[in-house]
Amino acid sequence: MTTVLVTGGAGYIGSHACKALSLAGITPVTFDNLVTGWRDAVRFGPFEQGDLVDRARLDAVFAAHRPDAVMHFAALSQVGESMSEPGKYWRNNVAGSLNLIEAAVAAGCMDFVFSSTCATYGDQDNVVLDESCAQRPINAYGKSKRAIEEMLADFGAAHGLRSVIFRYFNVAGADEEAEVGEFHQPETHLVPLILDAVDGRRGALTVFGTDYDTPDGTCIRDYVHVSDLVEAHVLGLRWLEAGKGSRVFNLGTGHGFSVREVIAAAEAVTGRKVPYIEGPRRAGDAARLVSGSEQAGQDLGWTPGRSTLERMISDAWRWHKVGHYEE
Ligand code: UDP
Repeated sequence: MTTVLVTGGAGYIGSHACKALSLAGITPVTFDNLVTGWRDAVRFGPFEQGDLVDRARLDAVFAAHRPDAVMHFAALSQVGESMSEPGKYWRNNVAGSLNLIEAAVAAGCMDFVFSSTCATYGDQDNVVLDESCAQRPINAYGKSKRAIEEMLADFGAAHGLRSVIFRYFNVAGADEEAEVGEFHQPETHLVPLILDAVDGRRGALTVFGTDYDTPDGTCIRDYVHVSDLVEAHVLGLRWLEAGKGSRVFNLGTGHGFSVREVIAAAEAVTGRKVPYIEGPRRAGDAARLVSGSEQAGQDLGWTPGRSTLERMISDAWRWHKVGHYEE
């Protein structure tokens, strides 16, 4: 494997994946429309600007670079926005992925790594979520990802496309060398919002809901360090390369932390108070999403060794202080 097409390679997770690929001796070709990604984040291989809804552009990029595999990160990923503007999610995520999958099959590029989400499981309080759990998404974001998973299975059956699907839990942290990091505009994710509130870059954090059926009333999530997460993708590529066939893996640690616990950890790491207020629930949020699976560990040999709250927040804090992309 020498070349991989990375859609969304200018985004948060995609840019870290490009670094991991280049460290593994593989050239990452970034395909990104720069709607939510950053040109500055493309540091480890060639850049092709384009949109997944533009099939001709995709065909040209496959012809120019002849990738051995695709890693597909490009997507809209905000739960709240997906509830108010579902059309954007069905068009960008679902129709865009259909174009990409058809272009890959047409180019004979049959190994595909896809970033899916634990949001496809929906709200299954207190159930340990493993890959065999029913997928009952409660927001349009999760529904769009579930639809793409189904699409990959159908293209596998019909055309022999091989896919590794990763269902992410909550991704946090940044490259330890701060070459790339998390920077969304607008920002909606918990850890960067906490760090912005800590240093006064924006106002107090709003905790979305304190009346959930959890020990402290706030939502519980399973946080994974982005550098651990992208290492699993390289292992997934190796899995496909070895001819081991299509598989679905959860990527989580099996440990959940509440919003209040994340705030406390950020206060310990930064040595400062996190200003916050308590607000109402956010539409589409499940009370508890924690991975119950060790499949990625057993089968891929994946160990999320950086995924402690302290390490994720301290790496994010270092990035927060030194690195931001040009707007
Ligand atoms: N959250 C919050 N305030 C915010 C942003 C997020 O309380 O300003 C909570 C959110 O309700 C969820 C958790 O933090 O329980 C993680 O949210 P995030 O948007 O980072 O990731 P998601 O779980 O939506 O993928």
